[in-house]
Amino acid sequence: MHLRGVVLPGDEVRDLWIDDGQLTFEPVDGAETLVTEGFLVPGLVDAHCHPAIGVHGPSTVDEAIAQAMQDRDAGTLLIRDCGQPIDTRALQDRADLPRMIRCGRHLALPKRYIPGLGIDLGSPDELPDAVAEQAADGDGWVKLVGDWIDRSTGDLAPLWPDDALAEAVKVAHAAGVRVTAHVFGEDALPGLINAGIDCLEHGTGLSPELLAEMARRGTALVPTLINIENFPGIAEKATKYPVYAAHMRALHAGVRDMIASALSAGVAIYAGSDAGGMIAHGRLVDEIEALWRAGMSRTEALAAGSWSAREWLGHPSLTEGAPADLLVFDSDPREDLSVLRDPRHILLGGAVFR
Ligand SMILES: [Zn+2]
Repeated sequence: MHLRGVVLPGDEVRDLWIDDGQLTFEPVDGAETLVTEGFLVPGLVDAHCHPAIGVHGPSTVDEAIAQAMQDRDAGTLLIRDCGQPIDTRALQDRADLPRMIRCGRHLALPKRYIPGLGIDLGSPDELPDAVAEQAADGDGWVKLVGDWIDRSTGDLAPLWPDDALAEAVKVAHAAGVRVTAHVFGEDALPGLINAGIDCLEHGTGLSPELLAEMARRGTALVPTLINIENFPGIAEKATKYPVYAAHMRALHAGVRDMIASALSAGVAIYAGSDAGGMIAHGRLVDEIEALWRAGMSRTEALAAGSWSAREWLGHPSLTEGAPADLLVFDSDPREDLSVLRDPRHILLGGAVFR
């Protein structure tokens, strides 16, 4: 197959060929031309997406496949799953589903996360061994639950003591695996960041000081802004826990300032929809637009859900020999992000899905 168009993130019109599912800039004899103009964008990346979680909780493999297709049809061609309740290797065997970096199971403690999703450890001391196990089972990432409501105190609280976190991150890094954590509040953050964690999910409690420290360390942030929109609803339902409810409302109210501080500190931010549970699958473009509204330029917001995220996750963009995972648009999404909602073509591994 042959395509001609502006190859993002650059501005140059180039000719691309697809040979055996891979991109090449060398002409391929007898190639059929798919497009002669347009904008060629590396497949979108949802850095926080749970194909095996649906609105009712853990999914079956068949439901997970349907959810991954919904993500694909909205342009997501690479997923970092950020924790899955079931084994999703069956999805990775299918050429028609987005590529997926599995993080294994969420690591939590009893009554300290959404029931049925993660592994509840018997005690915080078990964290390093559990991380080693998930590191061996996953595709280069491990997901921790960093904080959650503690019903005995009625507020968000960290799950892990600092020394268990430091040891857990050390174990993962020794295995060549990166670690990320779910975190909403403030108190869990210093322990996670100082342990050398690689990424934080949500991060609504981050202060300018901690964001500066993240920038210094190269700790990434996946804020999942469209899911943070659910905080007031979560607060409303938490009638038994007024302190927690007020805390969630305050974190929600502060998210714009947090993102502004993260951007001015130079923290690397990536797009993650948190699809599964409270967010429907196929909404990554909403998150990219939310990042733009929160202060990124359109190009930065697109990069955060495409080529920058690919680089961060170790997947190529539109380079020689890369898998032909790309989107074709009639106009430049860097000028108008809503263009992303209507790709002319979606190609995954060189196969045309639209
Ligand atoms: Zn999540």
